Amino acid sequence: MKTADQPLAIDGVRHIRPEIRALQVYRLAAPAQGPDAVRLHQNEAPEDWPDAVKREVAERLVATPWHRYPSARADAVCEAIGQMQGTAPSTIAATSGSNEALWAAYAAFAAGGTVVMPSPTYSMAKTLAVAAGARVVEVPLGERFALDPEAVLRVAHARRAELIYLASPNNPSGNVFSREAVLAIIAGAPGAVIVDEAYWEFTSSSYLDTLDRCGHVVLVRTFSKAMGGAGLRVGWLTAQPPVIAELMKTIPPYSLNVLAQAAAPVLVAHRDLAVSRVRMIGAERERVGRALQGLGMTVYPSETNFVLFEPGRAPAVVWQALAERGVLIRNVSGSPRLGACLRVSIGTPADNDRFLTALAHLRGAGQ
Ligand code: PMP
Repeated sequence: MKTADQPLAIDGVRHIRPEIRALQVYRLAAPAQGPDAVRLHQNEAPEDWPDAVKREVAERLVATPWHRYPSARADAVCEAIGQMQGTAPSTIAATSGSNEALWAAYAAFAAGGTVVMPSPTYSMAKTLAVAAGARVVEVPLGERFALDPEAVLRVAHARRAELIYLASPNNPSGNVFSREAVLAIIAGAPGAVIVDEAYWEFTSSSYLDTLDRCGHVVLVRTFSKAMGGAGLRVGWLTAQPPVIAELMKTIPPYSLNVLAQAAAPVLVAHRDLAVSRVRMIGAERERVGRALQGLGMTVYPSETNFVLFEPGRAPAVVWQALAERGVLIRNVSGSPRLGACLRVSIGTPADNDRFLTALAHLRGAGQ
């Protein structure tokens, strides 16, 4: 019999599934930063909610018992999301961030099966699928990160894939896929299709309109980007009600804690502010893009709150030099097809100026 005082945990690790051991823990390369660091590495909203809105949430939180479980399915949150996107609460399952939404969909559709996804895409989309027990088959995106529906469908049929994952707009490339391409995949898929719309507020492209006729389409959305609620961890799935009823079985009850459940409806009530900030971010994104081009860099088109660009020199060196100047962006150059690229989130005009100024100085200094 094993006793607790036997040395080392090696035995235990041996029992972890090999595909889990092969994964990397999600950790950000984020050098220690002072409070005035510019954080443009996580595609967050650049501005916090005003204190008045937070106080409204805090009052709700004070009035909520903490020794009781909250609503198991976060009913008030589903209600508010339904009003926001114009669908019935029965089409919505709330989750702890959209990462949990992905996890729940993978578990329900594809555990023991196959998920096909384009590459490059959101890194956790793959990690979570593997963790949920699915095999992942990646299909390279085409020129300028365009979706190739024939290639995706060919692979999906050859592998009898239970699920196809698409993020549109795509992260980290920032582009929306062509509507014809996504509709062709929805029409021809052998199984279900997830469209990850984490950045839907930054674009006019959405597949919400397909839900009425396509029972096999599931949308994933979040409060973490345009809604400025990354710290609250609120995301959701949207699909036809019978599908949502099944997906709920793979979402733990009480997944949204009392804070998340108090806050999300208040943020929806103040959504005008988020919408006006989305407009600011769109204008800033264009300004940052033009400035990068002005520095001779290649900029990829984006309909999100971030921009993928090629600095024209070793990305890791540029990333490090920016970090040393207190400007954090994302080094995505380790991903396939992105060897020359960095990704920068769009911040406030002042944040963006600091980023651009630091970058211009590096250039001037020949770094
Ligand atoms: N999907 C995409 C495409 C993302 O970029 C992200 C976060 N970067 C997520 C999902 C997950 O976000 P969250 O769990 O905060 O909702």
